[in-house]
Amino acid sequence: MITDEKELLLAKKKIIEVSRVLQDVGLLVRTWGNLSQRIDENYFLITPSGIKYEDLTPEMIVKVNINDLSYEGDIVPSSEKAVHAECYRIRKDADFIVHTHQVYASCAGTLGLKKIHTYFDDEDIVIPVAAYALPGTAKLAENVGLALTKFPDSNGIIMANHGTVCMGESAKAAVFEAEKMEVACHNFLADVCKTDMNHGVEEGFSSHLENGEIVYDIPDTPARVKEIHREIYRRRPDVRYIIHNKSEAVMTVSRRASHMRPLLDDFAQLIGYSVKIPSNEHGKDGLSFHNIKKNVNAVFSLNDGAYCVGSTYDDAMAVAIVLDKGCIAYISVMRNGEGHYLSLWESIKMNRHYRKSYSKLADLKR
Ligand SMILES: [Zn+2]
Repeated sequence: MITDEKELLLAKKKIIEVSRVLQDVGLLVRTWGNLSQRIDENYFLITPSGIKYEDLTPEMIVKVNINDLSYEGDIVPSSEKAVHAECYRIRKDADFIVHTHQVYASCAGTLGLKKIHTYFDDEDIVIPVAAYALPGTAKLAENVGLALTKFPDSNGIIMANHGTVCMGESAKAAVFEAEKMEVACHNFLADVCKTDMNHGVEEGFSSHLENGEIVYDIPDTPARVKEIHREIYRRRPDVRYIIHNKSEAVMTVSRRASHMRPLLDDFAQLIGYSVKIPSNEHGKDGLSFHNIKKNVNAVFSLNDGAYCVGSTYDDAMAVAIVLDKGCIAYISVMRNGEGHYLSLWESIKMNRHYRKSYSKLADLKR
């Protein structure tokens, strides 16, 4: 329980400190995810919406009412505040909550299972999976609440096709839960896939535009690759950066798949709702320039990874990160034999929402 202003300021600083810890261990990236701390039975503090963790200051942490979600001040709280409020209402023992889009737990949540049976060290554990609903909706908070009620002893829950929510009586306990869940889900996926999949972005031939000219990161970029870059910039006037992602998972998909539908909602949001992968059967030499489309931000190359595009370096890198995770999910579902995909309606909704909020952001910058 936080009772005075001094404690409130300390709690805000603690939230920022914990966000840095989670970034350092790779469980939080960019603006994705959010953290909160209970103040008392009626209020909690939460990170704001759409601000990078490295830019956070204590004044940006928002005080939200658990019962009606109203908040104090001009800064908009995280759009996932309803999920946090639901957890605090149901779990009176929870004082700190962490919501992440961590890789392995998010991917484990795409297989269509209601719970994940796995292990951490020598301990067998069960991780509940809350049913999917679009981010920021009351339905999503309700689904998380249902899973929590059904599994009252679980301090960590996977949100299907999205991420995780982990809680504890302290920040330390919530962070430990998130870390434990990631290791346990990594173990789980290694068993499902019969191979250990590493995540990350591995750059091949990247480039960017400077005064209308293409600048290649690697001077001796092959002519075949340059042709793809030229064609992307020609067909996509909005693109200024191309990051060639050759991570293990992206390479595997570029060799074996022909089409990707979103298994994770950030994939639908940032990459697109239908991504084709060229194959020898469809395109000459796997060079399918017709895969360069207006609202698809990853251009696969047969057996050569994918070109992730954006109007800024940050945007292209976000696509590269989300594509790698999406490919791990895709491989997991293929090896598992089944999975739960986002519906076309949900995918389109995610994609439009992103473009709308993105253009709003661009307007603000202007
Ligand atoms: Zn989220």
